[in-house]
Amino acid sequence: MGCFLGLFGLGRLSRNRGLVFARLRSALRQAQSTSQRTAPARPMDFLKLWLNPMNRRRRIYEGKAKVLYEGPEPGTLIQHFKDDATAFNAKKHEVIDGKGVLNNRISEFVFQHLNDIGVPTHFIRRLNMREQLIREVEIVPLEVVVRNVAAGSLSQRLGIEEGTQLPRSIIEFYYKNDALNDPMVSEEHITAFGWANPQEIDDIMALAIRVNDFLSGLFLGVGIRLVDFKMECGRLWEGDMMRIVVADEISPDSCRLWDIKSNDKLDKDRFRRDMGGLVEAYSEVARRLGIMQDNEPPRSGGPKLVQ
Ligand code: C5P
Repeated sequence: MGCFLGLFGLGRLSRNRGLVFARLRSALRQAQSTSQRTAPARPMDFLKLWLNPMNRRRRIYEGKAKVLYEGPEPGTLIQHFKDDATAFNAKKHEVIDGKGVLNNRISEFVFQHLNDIGVPTHFIRRLNMREQLIREVEIVPLEVVVRNVAAGSLSQRLGIEEGTQLPRSIIEFYYKNDALNDPMVSEEHITAFGWANPQEIDDIMALAIRVNDFLSGLFLGVGIRLVDFKMECGRLWEGDMMRIVVADEISPDSCRLWDIKSNDKLDKDRFRRDMGGLVEAYSEVARRLGIMQDNEPPRSGGPKLVQ
């Protein structure tokens, strides 16, 4: 009797379960048909959505070459490097396989060394091939460009031949605003419009000089001339205390790097000027810095001297 009741119970349970699954299937079909109405190109794979950990992360910001996700702890973010290459305020755009991985590794190398020599940055550690853990900062809306050799917009603006050594390093500020094409601005504009105060400008310039000295030496040691670079800064809050730190990325996307002997370009100008060979050039920078050997796992040692 008990056995019979048990079988009866099981039968009812499985009938109920069958009903539940049938309803779930129909709900999923309905949801899929709704999603197909709004996004006809790709039916939703619910199982994949549930299993994919990427979807549990909240996207904070998406830029042209990077995405910022919420980090694992308060005050942290995950910086994800995309393969997208853009120039001329995104008028030129391409996806270049492997660029994001290279920039993640090269930027990690630079930021880790800056941290090690006491230049404060937002960088905590690299997480994987495309991502790094960073401290959340309030980005100062300025692009800080340091120039050692005339090139790019400086050469165009002032008619100085590309490659001319400048009498001293020059620091320029550009207001970060895509709609306005990132116009060059003076300290007067920066303080008048409240983008940074005089003390913050002093701190930013002191950081820019230290980063330039460090990068110039680092690249010179591996046969590369640091022509110029762009960096960004952020306000890092620690309790009531705020300090300015180096943020964003420093990579061949944001530097001009020329081979010391041949003057070959090893940076994003290869993309801007349709020269091709961008990934090969970035790989060469990584190889010389000792970050990546051909198909070998990364070495932990310092830069390799070029004879
Ligand atoms: O184009 P321009 O000569 O002003 O660029 C100076 C430096 O700043 C270059 O190294 C360039 O790669 C970098 N830059 C950048 N992002 C921008 C503008 C310039 O990384 N939006």
